[in-house]
Amino acid sequence: MKFAVSIGLEIHVQLRTRTKIFCGCPTTFGAPPNTQVCPVCLGLPGALPVLNREAVRLTVMAGLALGCRINLRSKFDRKNYFYPDMPKNYQISQYDLPLCVGGGLEIETPAGRRFIRLRRIHLEEDVGKNLHFAQSSGVDFNRAGVPLMEIVTEPDLTSADEAHTFLLALKEVLLHGGISDCNLEEGNLRCDVNISVRPEGADELGVKTELKNLNSFRAVHRALDYEIRRQIDLLSCGRTVVQETRRWNDELGITESMRTKEEAHDYRYFPEPDLVPVELTEEQLTEWRAQLPELPAARRARLVREYGLPEYDAKVLTADPDVADFFEAAARRSQQPKIVSNWIMTEVLRVLGERGSSIRDLPLTPDALAELIEMVQRGVINMPAAKSVLAELMEHGGRPAEIIERRGLVQISDRGALEPVVEEVLRDHPGPAADYRNGKAAALQFLIGQVMKRTRGKANPKLVAEVLRARLESQSPSS
Ligand SMILES: [Zn+2]
Repeated sequence: MKFAVSIGLEIHVQLRTRTKIFCGCPTTFGAPPNTQVCPVCLGLPGALPVLNREAVRLTVMAGLALGCRINLRSKFDRKNYFYPDMPKNYQISQYDLPLCVGGGLEIETPAGRRFIRLRRIHLEEDVGKNLHFAQSSGVDFNRAGVPLMEIVTEPDLTSADEAHTFLLALKEVLLHGGISDCNLEEGNLRCDVNISVRPEGADELGVKTELKNLNSFRAVHRALDYEIRRQIDLLSCGRTVVQETRRWNDELGITESMRTKEEAHDYRYFPEPDLVPVELTEEQLTEWRAQLPELPAARRARLVREYGLPEYDAKVLTADPDVADFFEAAARRSQQPKIVSNWIMTEVLRVLGERGSSIRDLPLTPDALAELIEMVQRGVINMPAAKSVLAELMEHGGRPAEIIERRGLVQISDRGALEPVVEEVLRDHPGPAADYRNGKAAALQFLIGQVMKRTRGKANPKLVAEVLRARLESQSPSS
C-alpha cells in the first residue's frame, strides 16, 4: 500500500527587540541566570504587563511579508497550565484573535514550486528554562517574557525534505525582513511538528502525532524521516497510530512517547484582563507595508536582472541578506559582478562556514574585495598571490595595495625582467626545451613552473608562457 504524508509546522520565532514583550528587561542572550528579570516577567502578584509595540510591529511585518491578512483588532489571552518554568501558571498568548491569519510561502521542490499555506501568526511570551543539576533543579527566568511569534502552517508539507526547505525559505524571509536574527544556537527559532500518514487516496487525514525537542533544522529532518517510517510501519501491519506528543531523542535517533496530546480546551484559555486589545489602523498598515524591505524572491530576481548573475549565484548570495548587501556593495565598486560573486561564493563563504561567523564580523570590507579583484584584472598580482592577500584581509582587514606592497607580491609583468630568468631556465633544463621543440607541448608547463619558482610565484604566468614560447619557437638554443 502507498501512503500520503501530511506535515504541519509550529515555529516559534524570537523577535528582534531590545526588551521583553511586557516589561523593560533586556533580551540579550547568555547572561547569568535570573539577571534579566523584574516583577513583571517573574509573574509576581500585582505586577502589570505593558505591551512592547515593537513586538507587534515586527509580527505584523512578518504577516505582511508572508501575505497574511492582518487583524485590525486582536487581543491577548491566558493559556493556563502548571509548570515550574511559568510562575504565573499561565502564559500570555493569543487564542481566537491572532494578529495575522492565512498567507503562505512558496517553496521550490524537485516536483516544482509549491505554495505552503499558513494558518496564523500570533504573538506570545516565552517562558523560563528549567535547569537540572545532580541533586536539584533550578529555573532561569531570563527568557521568560521574551517576545515570540508563533507561525502555524496548514498540514501542506508532504515530506521531511519539504519541511526542511520550507524552514530555510522562512528563515530567509525573516532575516531579510529584519524580523528575527534566526540564530538557532541561541534558540531564536524553535520548531514543533505535527505529522500524520494515511493510505494514498484517503480523504481524511490520519491520526497525528506532535514532535517536540527539535533543536535544529537537521533534527526536524531526521525526526520526520523516523516518524514517517514509524507510522507507516504501524499502519502497514494493521495497527493504529496513537494521538500523542512525542519527544525527539537526537542521540538515539528515535521519537519517544511523552504524553497523550492535550486539546486546546485543556488550557482553559480566557481573555487577558490586564491588557487592552491591540487596535491597528489601515494607515498604520500602509505605513508598515512601505517599510517592508525587499524580500528574498524579489532580491534574487533583481540580482539576476541588474548584475547579470546566474540564478544559482543569486540564490546562494541571498540566503543571508548581509552577504547579499556585501555582494552589492563590492559589485557596484568593481563593475565585475560575476567575478565578485565567484570570490564570495568560494573563498569568503568557505571561511564564514569554517568559523561559523557572520560576514558582518569579518574585517574584510566590500571596497577591499573590489580593489583586490581590480588588481588581479589589471595584472598587478596573480591569482595565488591574490588568494593569500584575501586570507589576510579576512583575518586582519587592511588595504590590498598596502598588503601587496609590504609582502612584495607585485606580479612581474615586465618582459625585460622575465627574459633573463627564462634564459636561465632554458640553459639549466635543455631536456624539456628540446622535448618542446620536438612537439611535446606538455614540456612547456614544466618550464613555466620553473620560471614561477625562480620568481617566487610573482611572475605573470601568461607572460611567462608567451616569452618561453617565443624564445623556443623563433631561435635555436645555441643562438
Ligand atoms: Zn522583566
